[in-house]
Amino acid sequence: MEKRFVYADNAATTRVSDEVVAAMLPYFTEYYGNPSAVYGFAGKAKTAIENARAQVAAALGATPGEIYFVSCGTEADNWALKGTARMLAEKGRHIISTPFEHHAILHSLNTLEKEGFEVTYLPVYDNGRVKVEDLKAAIRPDTILVSVMFANNEIGTIQPIAEIGAVCRERGILFHTDAVQAIGHVPVDVQAMNIDMLSLSGHKFHAPKGIGAMYLRKGVGIPNFMDGGGQEKKRRAGTENVPYIVGLGKAIEIATQKLPEESKRVAALRDRLMDGLLERIPDIKINGDRENRLPGNVNVSIKYVEGESLLMMLDMQGVCAASGSACTSGSLDPSHVLMAIGLDHATAHGSLRFSFADYSTQEDIDYILEVLPPIVEKLRAMSPLAK
Ligand SMILES: *Cc1c(COP(=O)(O)O)cnc(C)c1O
Repeated sequence: MEKRFVYADNAATTRVSDEVVAAMLPYFTEYYGNPSAVYGFAGKAKTAIENARAQVAAALGATPGEIYFVSCGTEADNWALKGTARMLAEKGRHIISTPFEHHAILHSLNTLEKEGFEVTYLPVYDNGRVKVEDLKAAIRPDTILVSVMFANNEIGTIQPIAEIGAVCRERGILFHTDAVQAIGHVPVDVQAMNIDMLSLSGHKFHAPKGIGAMYLRKGVGIPNFMDGGGQEKKRRAGTENVPYIVGLGKAIEIATQKLPEESKRVAALRDRLMDGLLERIPDIKINGDRENRLPGNVNVSIKYVEGESLLMMLDMQGVCAASGSACTSGSLDPSHVLMAIGLDHATAHGSLRFSFADYSTQEDIDYILEVLPPIVEKLRAMSPLAK
């Protein structure tokens, strides 16, 4: 088989689409005015921002006034958690979340714990899903915030967000969701799902890295994260990144329009890879829920091999994949997500994530199915554990 380049790490980041680049370009060299300026020339930039805000709002079922542009998903996560905690510290100091959130959430929670907040981490079981009964049981009179990710970046599990939202609304508790992996890939509706705050990031759906947005339900008055000028209705200071905001708006519009078809196409690729791997490689297991799963996520544990060795050999064959989350690679700790769903260290270390999006093809899948089994065989032949 001829060597190919296969990009199967779309959960880490995606290629910016040509349409998005084309939409952005004029805002670097033609309409480069500062949107806060009063002359007509700056109006082009200002209008572009408001157009993008409307595109993001439409994709979420929100109103434009509820959308704030930020620098990345990490910033939105920090703002939501620390802002809520600061705002409501007098009312209560208890927060509910999960043990397998992205580090932008987990490390923000650690900071809050050091400041005297208490966090309950709901169990996520071996399928990687929280149970609404556990949430109900965890709620206390001093609970001020529930933050549960929409979809997990490593194992792709989608949470029962609408049910969680309904419980939080009924109990009068603010509900934040890190929807960075979900936006553009599965339907999200902040009204129907009773979401009060939502984080999203452009580079997970074919917009550039370094631009994100926060949905803040009208009336949720969490304080600023950044102090400075009066941009974003004085809630997020800093001169707006106009080209990237335009790119984010364009990308979310395209993704939303393509979603019904594209999510089916990508899910078929995912299933082809999962079934193919189960068929071709003995002692392999799928991590995460097969039903409630992002269309583009495949995560497997392959017994008796090291994920890092698999990655290096896949790389030699032209395949980009991941063994943990990109943020933790380089460290030898097993993935906190795989630990949270009950895997032992050895199994977690032998895990691989493949993630697919708009540019993924069936040829990519078939190539992985061709090159991975012999790699596993070779590594197992050298492993003292494989007998
Ligand atoms: C990528 C990611 C983030 C961080 O977004 P950045 O824009 O890279 O800061 C947060 N949460 C999840 C679930 C992610 O996948």
